Amino acid sequence: MPLVTTERMLQKAQKEGYAVGAFNVENMEMAQAVVSAAEELKAPVIIQTTPSTVRYAGVDLYYANVAALAKKASVPVAMHLDHGSSFELAAQALRAGYTSIMIDGSHEPFEGNIEVTGRVVSMAKPNEIPVEAELGKVGGKEDDLDGGNGGYTDPMEAKEFVERTGVSSLAVAIGTAHGVYAGEPKLDVERLKEIRSVVTIPLVLHGASGLSDEAVQACIREGICKVNFATELRIAYSNGIKEVLKEKPDTFDPKAYGKVGRERVAELVKNRMAVCGCAGKA
Ligand SMILES: [Zn+2]
Repeated sequence: MPLVTTERMLQKAQKEGYAVGAFNVENMEMAQAVVSAAEELKAPVIIQTTPSTVRYAGVDLYYANVAALAKKASVPVAMHLDHGSSFELAAQALRAGYTSIMIDGSHEPFEGNIEVTGRVVSMAKPNEIPVEAELGKVGGKEDDLDGGNGGYTDPMEAKEFVERTGVSSLAVAIGTAHGVYAGEPKLDVERLKEIRSVVTIPLVLHGASGLSDEAVQACIREGICKVNFATELRIAYSNGIKEVLKEKPDTFDPKAYGKVGRERVAELVKNRMAVCGCAGKA
């Protein structure tokens, strides 16, 4: 089917108490792996690209790959811009055909975040493209994004932010971090409950790579309905390739190792979908 937006996908998840997995891809093989995992588990799925990923190959090329895969898939697939770093990049992704946009103004002061987020919501509205924003700072590093030690989302600020911007979903900072964790992170699930009690739109968890299954599921029980996975997919893909090249260093056909990387990513994605509870929800 054609690409769908994340609006109904996340509302359904919210109503039924599960989360949709959102998976960052870097190339064709990773996109294929994510869609094949979704097909196999009959799960709705979100594929996303960061600003540094789209700088690597351009929004059009990623869009074309994912749109082609979605068209052949029997499950709903959405194409999302992860951590849109500027109004201009959000516009570029919208023009390319992305069906969901994140604008991350979390590095701005509260009013500045509201301003840029509101502008992107107004731009996306005529095409009915939903917008995700972030309030508070998810810590850690991912590409050129550096959240430092992070900063927790204030529930009352979240309420005001959502009302004033009209966003469709909100990424909250409750102690997760991007990248690889040094130790088991301490999540503030109480804070998540408080945010949930004053904010009605779907809530998003970033920095889930490396969280325990129990921690992810505790967050889903308290209202998270989109969970982002990025770093783990990169690791799985690269490990698959390293395995092949270690065993057969003379390999020269990119298909020979790309295939193994793709298999590793598909295995990981199926596992994460099961944790999110989205299997069978397509
Ligand atoms: Zn993130």
